Amino acid sequence: LAAAAAAAATTGGDAALDAFWMPFTANRQFKKSPRLLAKASGMHYWDADGREILDGCAGLWCVNAGHTRPKIVAAIQAQAAELDFAPTFQMGHPLAFELAGQITRIAPAGMGKVFFTNSGSESVETALKMALAYHRVRGEGQRTRLIGRERGYHGVNFGGISVGGIVANRKMFGAMLAGVDHIRHTHDPARNAFSVGQPAHGADFADDLERLCALHDPSTIAAVIVEPIAGSTGVLIPPQGYLQRLREICDRHGILLIFDEVITGFGRTGQPFAAQTFGVTPDLMTVAKGLTNGAVPMGAVIAKDMIHDAFMDGPEHLIEFFHGYTYSAHPLACAAGLATLQTYAEEGLLTRAQQLQGQLAERLHALRDAPNVIDVRNYGLVGGVELAPRPGEPGKRGFEVFLDCYANGVLIRTTGDTIAMSPPLIIEPAQIDQIVDTVRAALGRVA
Ligand code: PLP
Repeated sequence: LAAAAAAAATTGGDAALDAFWMPFTANRQFKKSPRLLAKASGMHYWDADGREILDGCAGLWCVNAGHTRPKIVAAIQAQAAELDFAPTFQMGHPLAFELAGQITRIAPAGMGKVFFTNSGSESVETALKMALAYHRVRGEGQRTRLIGRERGYHGVNFGGISVGGIVANRKMFGAMLAGVDHIRHTHDPARNAFSVGQPAHGADFADDLERLCALHDPSTIAAVIVEPIAGSTGVLIPPQGYLQRLREICDRHGILLIFDEVITGFGRTGQPFAAQTFGVTPDLMTVAKGLTNGAVPMGAVIAKDMIHDAFMDGPEHLIEFFHGYTYSAHPLACAAGLATLQTYAEEGLLTRAQQLQGQLAERLHALRDAPNVIDVRNYGLVGGVELAPRPGEPGKRGFEVFLDCYANGVLIRTTGDTIAMSPPLIIEPAQIDQIVDTVRAALGRVA
């Protein structure tokens, strides 16, 4: 395949790469100039030619403990030989219960129930259905409206793109997205550009929820879903007091608050969950990615006990929540999850971002004088550097910076013209320097 990739680079295409229709990828560009990762360990990938690449984005915000960690590898290998699959519909296996228990031990107080899925997108669908069903089982079935936020990303399934606020999704699939509304996003560069950590201005953006309550009547609204930090739409940090105010408004009107912690979960912000970092407890929390360190697909919804308990009425032989996936709590994923949580605990990774965020902030904000930089945003081990788009070519400058960094041994991610950094939580200070230096050099080369 490496040879095929090299050939493709010169010939402009190769049959060996033809069949895989790649997700969220510029397929034609990729297949002309493939970037094939062949091996990984700790903070690094190696490409098919053996070139070392520093991982500045934890794969896709998921490999929080670094790559191919021995305990996680061994746990998956052993589990594959011990119990390959077990249904969790009317059956169970011990690791599923053990992992759920361990997750609740690091979750915010009162969030004592875990429903397993296989991805962030599935976690979002599950949480939205749970919210609707919760109101219904309590006799408030008229609460059917879901509220998301502009610039929200909640995965790619229909519920998630409905509550999400990404224009490309809404344009393409809009006809399917009825019955939801959106509060405004919190991005306000006029007041908040180059804020270090949480922006000072914008708690009042939460009041937009009151506007929607006035429009639809709060008794029709089931839930509000937001990412504590929006990652995929350009690293948007919640203004000071914003999440608190959302919580207050939800409480006032009996609306459930869902935090989508798919990227913020498992240590990204310096606590196990952003809910703890920002001191706001939601009713439901969606997670995935870092739950298994990305090693086996798995997601979960973490629910307040009171949500779960509301379902536990009626005849005991009946299924209380009519939902689940064949692979919910897959044994390999559970084994990976348990070994991941053990690795996080042994190495103090779920709070390690606290020690490193100062350096990341300082180095990142020094980029404000680099060419085309119009904003720098940071929190915990998340960084965003927004570039001015080229006139008529939105996203192209960002993409070229991504390619330049990759050519120079650092993997970052770009969404539009915003560079996102979310390295594994094992990163060392010198590697933070290497990432930022590589980005700076790329900004100097990319016009
Ligand atoms: N929610 C958020 C906040 C995400 O960032 C993502 C993925 O990046 C998802 C949901 C979707 O997760 P998945 O790609 O595992 O379906």
